Amino acid sequence: MRTVSGPTSDVVVVGAGLAGLSAAMRLAGAGRNVTVVERETIPGGRAGRLDVTVPDGTYRFDTGPTVLTMPDLIADAFDCLGENMDDWLDLQPIDPLYRSFFPDGSVLDVHADVEEMADEIERVIGPDEAAGYRRYVDFVSKLYRYEMNDFIDRNIDSPFDLVTPDLARLVAIGGFRRLTPKVRQYLRDPRTERIYSFQAMYAGVSPQDALAIYAVIAYMDSVAGVFFPKGGMHAVPAAMAAAAEKHGVTFRYGTEVSRVETSGDRATAVITTEGERIQADVVVLNPDLPVAHRDLLGQEPWHVRRLEYSPSCFLLLAGSSATYTKIAHHNIHFGRSWSGVFDELIDQRRLMSDPSLLVTNPSHSDPDLAPPGKQVYYVLFPTPNLDADIDWRTVGPRYRDEVVRTLEERGYVGFGDAIEVEDVTTPLDWEARGMERGAPFASAHSFLQTGPFRPRNMWGQNVVFTGSGTQPGVGVPMVLISGRLAAERITGKDTTYRSRAARW
Ligand SMILES: Cc1cc2nc3c(=O)[nH]c(=O)nc-3n(C[C@H](O)[C@H](O)[C@H](O)COP(=O)(O)OP(=O)(O)OC[C@H]3O[C@@H](n4cnc5c(N)ncnc54)[C@H](O)[C@@H]3O)c2cc1C
Repeated sequence: MRTVSGPTSDVVVVGAGLAGLSAAMRLAGAGRNVTVVERETIPGGRAGRLDVTVPDGTYRFDTGPTVLTMPDLIADAFDCLGENMDDWLDLQPIDPLYRSFFPDGSVLDVHADVEEMADEIERVIGPDEAAGYRRYVDFVSKLYRYEMNDFIDRNIDSPFDLVTPDLARLVAIGGFRRLTPKVRQYLRDPRTERIYSFQAMYAGVSPQDALAIYAVIAYMDSVAGVFFPKGGMHAVPAAMAAAAEKHGVTFRYGTEVSRVETSGDRATAVITTEGERIQADVVVLNPDLPVAHRDLLGQEPWHVRRLEYSPSCFLLLAGSSATYTKIAHHNIHFGRSWSGVFDELIDQRRLMSDPSLLVTNPSHSDPDLAPPGKQVYYVLFPTPNLDADIDWRTVGPRYRDEVVRTLEERGYVGFGDAIEVEDVTTPLDWEARGMERGAPFASAHSFLQTGPFRPRNMWGQNVVFTGSGTQPGVGVPMVLISGRLAAERITGKDTTYRSRAARW
């Protein structure tokens, strides 16, 4: 494994996103002096928090990820500090993981427990589909086993690193075939097909174009389970930052880095917008990778310039007096169109004409997130990223009304009138928050932007990238791993507390 050269005592981590925090915790655990420089006043980055106080209390909104999977990876970061995650976070499994609503009026709850899910599929669709589902679980569980150690959870210096027995196993089970036909080998009903392949959207590719290996994301949520922390998703970075601080990490909030000072291809310090110089033996960059290259290192190599980006999203956060008893914590409302959704978002770069959308109701699980008797709603509509010809300054307000209208048509009666406070985020806002092309899900995980082909996590002699723009990729589990991979580039050894074999 390639590592940084020279001394590694003083590490400056730019950004307290989940990746930066994961790296900082492991580096502190390995005895480094770590300073985290974060431009916001709180940790978490995309896993941020918006509090809106009204006369009868406070609405607490998570502003980014809501579907928390693979909590072992969070526990692992705490382990590196000799801490027990359970002392810092109250994580509870969510059941059902999702409630899915279909245009024909049918409703299917998604459970992590295989028996419970097979029963649900048998009840709603039939026994043959339930049998297909069991075979599908077997397939994605194998994918997970073969992919995790060799392809996701390690630093990759060359494509040849991937030539392992697991690669042959992946080929043998059809991991490099297209996702949609592979899923159809097991699941014949369009409803189950959607439930177990929509996750490709997280990776920025359509299930029609994605390789079957991406079904591993379906394993991570729909088989391994979805969790929710008491206090909301932001409780995760808040707890990680607090534990890091306890173990000596210095946090400089409200401090923006304007550039990395370099001498040749060696970083020597970071310079803040206030002109302060913070000396560093090693610099870890957590801002979006293309932005970090261009704005902080002052150069944008060709392999970064040519990147293609995932779709974006329009987010409506609403504090509301309305309660909808038929919904669960996470609710996916599928439109009639399926391949059309991806075609519009990715190929035609247009807004969805027949939307599929996510409504999360976190106060369903934790009523303290809203004033007494009130609810928090998190409504996510996928949209094209800023490569599309959409002027969000004018389209944004209109689209907000369309989102509310769509929700009311899909059963959220009186949604608009019940809103007490609201906040809207458009792709233009994601861009203003430092995400290239307004794409909060980073560069797409097309084949040529995945694994060894995704931008590497090292630059020069002592700069390491971490976060969704580098390997292994996007999403909470991946960026937590990315923080660990960044730390390994600096310490030169596996910084996990438990052995990998035990974890996987
Ligand atoms: C709306 C939305 C929904 C999502 N849903 C899910 C989900 O349900 N499940 C899931 O697993 N993933 C989800 N994701 C993806 C997941 O949130 C991200 O992949 C992950 O949080 C990215 O973490 P990161 O550490 O790479 O980056 P970030 O969180 O963006 O962290 C970068 C940090 O760097 C700081 N920074 C940037 N520039 C500077 C500078 N110049 N100086 C100092 N600090 C700087 C930023 O303020 C930020 O704190 C979602 C994302 C969004 C936006």
